[in-house]
Amino acid sequence: MTGFTDFFPYEHRAFTRHRGVTYPLPINLQTINQFFGMSLSPEQARKLIENQAASSRTGSAGNLRDRAIAEIGEPLYEAFIEGYTAKKWQMDPKRLPASTISRLPVRLTFDSRYFNDVHQGLPASDYASWLQRIASHPFIDISLGTDFFRSSLRTHIADRSLNVPVVYTGPLDKYFDFELGQLGWRTLDFEFQRVAQPDFQGTAVMNEADIDVPYTRTIEFRHFRPDHEVPVAESIIDREFSRSAEQGDEPYYPINSADDRDRLSGYRARAESLQDVYFGGRLGTCKYLDMHMAIASALTLVERIANDRSWVAVANEEAGV
Ligand SMILES: Cc1cc2nc3c(=O)[nH]c(=O)nc-3n(C[C@H](O)[C@H](O)[C@H](O)COP(=O)(O)OP(=O)(O)OC[C@H]3O[C@@H](n4cnc5c(N)ncnc54)[C@H](O)[C@@H]3O)c2cc1C
Repeated sequence: MTGFTDFFPYEHRAFTRHRGVTYPLPINLQTINQFFGMSLSPEQARKLIENQAASSRTGSAGNLRDRAIAEIGEPLYEAFIEGYTAKKWQMDPKRLPASTISRLPVRLTFDSRYFNDVHQGLPASDYASWLQRIASHPFIDISLGTDFFRSSLRTHIADRSLNVPVVYTGPLDKYFDFELGQLGWRTLDFEFQRVAQPDFQGTAVMNEADIDVPYTRTIEFRHFRPDHEVPVAESIIDREFSRSAEQGDEPYYPINSADDRDRLSGYRARAESLQDVYFGGRLGTCKYLDMHMAIASALTLVERIANDRSWVAVANEEAGV
């Protein structure tokens, strides 16, 4: 990737507000000490959380609430997970499957970086210039504003006259005309605002943990570039409101209910049975992917296609090998 862009060393940090107090995320030693009004060592904090988790454990941990409490105890769950999760999924966490969350990250150090990765950064100019550089290769043609479903590709795929592999990155269920029903997605409404302050919140991401604040977080873009000192008296912020995606909305986060999982495995089986089409990206695989995961999964898919015997045969035939 560094062949196409330089990266500047950005380390993401996020905060959350709960009952008028701001805490660092993910939950770390600072969050725990601040929340309980103590000065605990890592070992003391571990014991406290273990005791709280043991005393409030409900047994099955089959839903998100029970699973989270079994990991971090009731007080931290109620403060930092319950309200935010209920807003994000518009559902009582007791009704969400435990699999909605992976292990809750709790750090028993004062390390407040959001990600653990050794190498962290953002493209030095921006994502668009980076991707444009990758795409400006003589073998790559780009045709924008072309809907896959209105293009001739579908016919060529159906009559197997294309002779090149197709990677489809649109919604998986749409590819199959929703034959097994629609997969559930959450979407976001973004409320952008220009505020008459050079610095609105002092950080890029401020979550709102409490259920009575209708938005889940506020983004302030200038903080993604701490190296760019912009001497302006205004700042741009964006508040995110989560809701179910309807027809025509941009799907963002797969819902993953039991019904969705059934449908998804049906669609995946159909996708596997196709010969010339591969399903890529967050929509095509119906998985939430961070950028680094999206890139890794694209590279893996390219390798899979390159090793797929039918395409190797076509390429060899064309090259006269
Ligand atoms: C709100 C939000 C915040 C995020 N924040 C972060 C973050 O802070 N850090 C991070 O690492 N990641 C973040 N991500 C994740 C990151 O944006 C995604 O991982 C990444 O964009 C996925 O890339 P993709 O190529 O898989 O899918 P997409 O970027 O969705 O690309 C799919 C492409 O397919 C095209 N397409 C779909 N249907 C058709 C059709 N019918 N015809 C033609 N073209 C079609 C679309 O136009 C699009 O260009 C965030 C995602 C969301 C939704």
